[in-house]
Amino acid sequence: MATEQQSQAPATTAPLPDAIEKALVGGDLAPLSTEQRVIYYRHVCESVGLNPFTRPFDYLRLNGKLVLYANKGATDQLRKIYGISITLPNQRDEDGIYLVQARAKDKDGREDEDLGAVPILNLKGEPLANAKMKACTKAKRRVTLSICGLGMLDETEVESIPGAQRVAVEDVEAPLVSPEDAVKLGRLVEALGELPKMLAFYKVKALGELTAADAAQAIRMMLQRRGKMREDLRKQVGKGWEVRGDVEAEPFTFKCVACGCISESADAGALAHDCAPPEPA
Ligand SMILES: [Zn+2]
Repeated sequence: MATEQQSQAPATTAPLPDAIEKALVGGDLAPLSTEQRVIYYRHVCESVGLNPFTRPFDYLRLNGKLVLYANKGATDQLRKIYGISITLPNQRDEDGIYLVQARAKDKDGREDEDLGAVPILNLKGEPLANAKMKACTKAKRRVTLSICGLGMLDETEVESIPGAQRVAVEDVEAPLVSPEDAVKLGRLVEALGELPKMLAFYKVKALGELTAADAAQAIRMMLQRRGKMREDLRKQVGKGWEVRGDVEAEPFTFKCVACGCISESADAGALAHDCAPPEPA
């Protein structure tokens, strides 16, 4: 029973790097580098069990600050993950403001409440109906974020904030690795047998989550190591054997210069056979 509950809880989140923590005073992402924003974005997602690749949050410029706000994808996912059910026990018109009270309960029985408010003064017919529905949506979204401990704006609130400006992700986050480089890196990492180590080092779950800059650095590093390995093997097997295999991918093999036989291991035992030594050049 306990393990079942654990598997449904969001993954434990590693603490943010100090530099990011410090730059984040007041929840402003503007001082962060584009790479740090990628890390922060994933951190927030992970802290509540959301998949960052579904882009549950968007960026907003507000009073000179850069902040995250939750879109519909965030609240939809959260309701599913936490089994949140919502009721609207009270709706009323208060001096031209339509107020909706929303009550949320998650699968563990925790409860929370919040309000959605939309001005309806002088509205009639369809605009009035739309405004009331909007107040309900707002209330549901706000209470969902609130019960999950996410102190951020929802997109239904963003629309009504004067001066709030949505920002394209490409403009504020570092670009991710290209599919070509992800494949190249994948082959290198496989050849070196270091995928788990690599993912842990960059704190990602798949190579495709790396930023372009991190991936390029990793590729350079791995190519160097593979090159060095090849040099070392060449020295180890001596003149009678040729080291074959692409630095970028497949495992190295060894071809006998005299008889052309191929060995897959540089072990002295695997390489030993009794063909004639190579003719001196
Ligand atoms: Zn041979």
